[in-house]
Amino acid sequence: MNLSYHMPTRVIFGKNSLRDQAAEFGKHGNRAFIVTGKTSALKSGAQADTEEALSMLSIPYRIYNGVMPNPTVANIRIAASEAKDFKADFIIGIGGGSPMDAAKAVALLAVQDLDDASLFKGPYRDPLPIIAVPTTAGTGSEVTPYSILTDTKDETKKNLSHESLYPKAAFLDPSYTEMLPFDVTVNTAIDALSHALESFLSVRANAMSTLITLEALRLLGPCLMEIDHARPVSYTVRERLLFASMLAGMAIAQTGTTVVHAMGYALTYHRNIDHGKANGLLITEYMRYIRTHYPENVLRALDAMSFGNVEDLGRVLENLIPWNDSLTESELEMFSQKTLTVKSVVNTKPAPGIADIKRLYKRALGVK
Ligand code: NAP
Ligand code: ZN
Repeated sequence: MNLSYHMPTRVIFGKNSLRDQAAEFGKHGNRAFIVTGKTSALKSGAQADTEEALSMLSIPYRIYNGVMPNPTVANIRIAASEAKDFKADFIIGIGGGSPMDAAKAVALLAVQDLDDASLFKGPYRDPLPIIAVPTTAGTGSEVTPYSILTDTKDETKKNLSHESLYPKAAFLDPSYTEMLPFDVTVNTAIDALSHALESFLSVRANAMSTLITLEALRLLGPCLMEIDHARPVSYTVRERLLFASMLAGMAIAQTGTTVVHAMGYALTYHRNIDHGKANGLLITEYMRYIRTHYPENVLRALDAMSFGNVEDLGRVLENLIPWNDSLTESELEMFSQKTLTVKSVVNTKPAPGIADIKRLYKRALGVK
């Protein structure tokens, strides 16, 4: 067996973990720049806890709360110039994947001028230290070296990836996710599922990522079966979702994602479909595609999730994220071409060609 495994983020998990271990902030700098969205940090309670912790440690801070969902390059450049202006020496990202990813790009741009071409290529200098505080349970960005940004020039989402972008520490408090609207809870949970499945079935899966994804799938399957519009999501389920999403993040940090995420980016960019939902709409057909080539791997994943077959999983997903629309022929063509330009496609086992990608879109979403 050959294995190389690296996960440098200190994970601090549990109710009140940020309050209880506030001293952690003091290990990473003396001037903090907080990167967040419009409301997530406030609604979750994470901002109040962070401000209290920084005040207690006498660490001056400034807050940037203008991160948009699926942040653009222009959006993070504004935040980075404020961070520089404030002379911040560490960055705290509070929110879902959007603010956490923005925080990583800000940490990099605060120490280095990178034009749009070199932003996704490097070479990179060491960014400012990053602390992540997730308020959604789905992206796992708190434990990955990825920052997914929207590039409006190329009209797609791109992955800024470098080992130095792993957060130094992450505070995961399930109670920060208690105010999440139902649709965000569902979409983000499905994003975590997508990470775990794609990683498990990836050509890059290794002994550690497999171990981690099997546990993530074991937790996520029953959670998705339990979540229902008719009742509030329990704390226990929220705790499991946050833990599983972190595990799935640790797995994609090793393996990357695959064709599902690559196809989902076009749906998010051109159809404004939420990231997790975009993946979720494609998962069932993706599983059928893999099943024709590697039925045993698919069975193992289904078994871990406690689903009897792909169709059972499909029914649960359809119920949570119904789809009553279709693509046009020209969208099908454009989205498929764009998918092929995304790096993660080659992680899919077997690697799909353009005809496979078109078939996947067509079967998953319909074409009028
Ligand atoms: P998000 O875009 O961060 O947030 C979605 C919505 O939920 C926003 O309106 C946000 O409000 C709101 N929200 C967040 N936390 C809340 C809370 N506790 N209570 C109430 N509302 C809350 O969604 P996400 O799905 O977590 O992140 C998606 C992004 O992450 C995409 O750009 C995706 O490509 C990226 N991603 C990154 C990785 C990685 O490894 N880095 C992996 C997967 C996905 P605000 O606008 O106020 O924040
Ligand atoms: Zn994702």
